[in-house]
Amino acid sequence: MENYKCRSVGIIGSGIQGVCIGYQLIKKGVNVTLFDKNDPLSNNYKPASYGNAGHFSPYAVLQLNRPDVLNDVPKMLLSSYGPLALKWNYIPKMLNWIFHYLKNCNKKSMLHTAKYMHQILNLSKNAYEEIFQEIDTSRLVEKKGIIYVWTNKNLKSRNLEIKIRNDLGIKQKILNQKQVLEYEPNLNPVFDAGVIFEDAMHARDPHGILKEIFKLFLKKGGKFIQTDIKSLKQVNESETIVKSETEDFKFEKTVIATGAFSKKFTDQLGEKIPLDTERGYHVHFKNKDNLISRPVIFLDRGFGMTPMNQGLRAVGTVELGGLNNPLSKKRIQYIINCAKELLPQLDKHDDEWLGFRPTLPDFLPILGPSSKNKNIIYAFGHQHLGWTLGAITGKIVSGIVAGEKTNLDLAPYSSKRFN
Ligand SMILES: Cc1cc2nc3c(=O)[nH]c(=O)nc-3n(C[C@H](O)[C@H](O)[C@H](O)COP(=O)(O)OP(=O)(O)OC[C@H]3O[C@@H](n4cnc5c(N)ncnc54)[C@H](O)[C@@H]3O)c2cc1C
Repeated sequence: MENYKCRSVGIIGSGIQGVCIGYQLIKKGVNVTLFDKNDPLSNNYKPASYGNAGHFSPYAVLQLNRPDVLNDVPKMLLSSYGPLALKWNYIPKMLNWIFHYLKNCNKKSMLHTAKYMHQILNLSKNAYEEIFQEIDTSRLVEKKGIIYVWTNKNLKSRNLEIKIRNDLGIKQKILNQKQVLEYEPNLNPVFDAGVIFEDAMHARDPHGILKEIFKLFLKKGGKFIQTDIKSLKQVNESETIVKSETEDFKFEKTVIATGAFSKKFTDQLGEKIPLDTERGYHVHFKNKDNLISRPVIFLDRGFGMTPMNQGLRAVGTVELGGLNNPLSKKRIQYIINCAKELLPQLDKHDDEWLGFRPTLPDFLPILGPSSKNKNIIYAFGHQHLGWTLGAITGKIVSGIVAGEKTNLDLAPYSSKRFN
């Protein structure tokens, strides 16, 4: 392994994971080709890495596989004004995911996920800072912290979140309503308290950042091919083949970084990985980004607002409904209502967007080789935190590809946990 040098790598998917892995591999002197059915530099490029809330959230260790959240699910589903929605036609196709989710909704799994999310979240900011040395982020990134607000209705859950973050040594400042309003005076005080993560930062334009990293990748010698990849396979110990409709491409190793769309490939490779999607939405209120100075998330509503270059982005909700159901106007209306509840001065909105969070039922990503094909490496399943984790995923996965040693415990991110 000492003198091992990987010669060529294909990466399928140029979302934030794919471009960051490509960037890190190029820095190691590997020949890299990125494939995507959409051109990251085009205005039609709209995957999750384009439309997310733009939070860099290293503090967000607790995921949705929590017993307290499970208890609230029936209540949320019965309410037409709730943060969780189902597309009933899809639920039969999601039974395996739901089965695994229920298995992971206990205190032990919750703490296991929190520990191993913390391991990588803790490194996520420095990994981006390394990339930000090489691109101009002056109009793209703001470092003003991130605020969460809540009512007193679910204090048990809020206290659990605060305690787990304290136990992991995460910096947080609890605020009463008056203190929240000192940070964000335009907010309608429909909440009782909140927390600010002062060290957190946010993107003013996630797509703009992705484009800069992608351009850096090209400048350093990376290749990009716009095509829809149909399949891939490992031919032998040192050869993988990536197939489009019309062409075959050979690489020593191939990385799957196609977010919520990755299951098609893992199914082809014969691995039963219960990847699915939590659908989320956004709208923009143009020229209203000056109403708040930093992202504000209303936890009771499962929604937030981020000041961005395109306007105030109102974003959130979880809808279980797969990749093919159309956008739900009800969910869009829900987000608009939530935004106007916090900022009644908002008026008309633009740009209705539906995006796909790639989520595994234990809410940990898969980072590492396929259990059946050691030269096919997985990098997907980052759920609500894939934007935050892009740069560190680039470092970890490029290290795996290059056969480097690491001090990190990577076993919890292996696909073997589902075999
Ligand atoms: C509403 C919403 C809000 C969010 N907010 C945040 C946030 O504030 N902070 C945070 O950290 N995370 C957030 N996330 C999560 C984050 O956006 C995702 O986890 C992350 O963008 C996933 O990145 P990815 O590179 O894995 O996938 P994607 O961004 O989905 O990229 C996958 C790429 O693969 C390409 N592709 C797919 N199939 C093929 C194929 N067959 N051939 C070629 N190309 C293919 C697609 O075109 C796409 O470009 C949010 C997500 C949503 C939906």
